[in-house]
Amino acid sequence: MAQKRFAMNIWLMVLTANEGICVYCDRAEATELDYVIPPAMGGVEWWTNLAPACISCHQAKSARTPLDWHMSRSMSASWFPAQRGDILHERYGLRAAYEEARAWAEIVLDNVERVAREISDPKRHGWFADNLSWWVPRNRLEIQWSLVCSRPRIAKAKASGWTLHSTQIQ
Ligand SMILES: [Zn+2]
Repeated sequence: MAQKRFAMNIWLMVLTANEGICVYCDRAEATELDYVIPPAMGGVEWWTNLAPACISCHQAKSARTPLDWHMSRSMSASWFPAQRGDILHERYGLRAAYEEARAWAEIVLDNVERVAREISDPKRHGWFADNLSWWVPRNRLEIQWSLVCSRPRIAKAKASGWTLHSTQIQ
């Protein structure tokens, strides 16, 4: 869980990236702000370190980097009790676990980097700062409500290349 209380425009900016889908499973709806690099591991407590995540991936990943998370997942999935300790086992040995984690890492790094570029795009970031409110949401309901209300405006702004400004004189 992102501990810092982020402003609504940051919530919406991150949650609507990647078409509103979790950056890790690329399947479920994103409802959480996830620190890609946990602050405890040196990650900055700022939006540049945030990615949209579903509740399930967010909780499973916990305070780890995506790479640590999947290395341990791959290790526990590969090390069945019967084969535990067999370093050289073709299917359940250390290298097999590593190769599996590495294959997944390639995919997730592509996703994470693509979404990080989308979030840090100055035009997109500027649009969220200029057009959406800066107040800090008090609860989940406010975030969900703002998301539903803002979605059409965000979609329209995205389609126009983030050039719409509410303060712009026509
Ligand atoms: Zn997910």
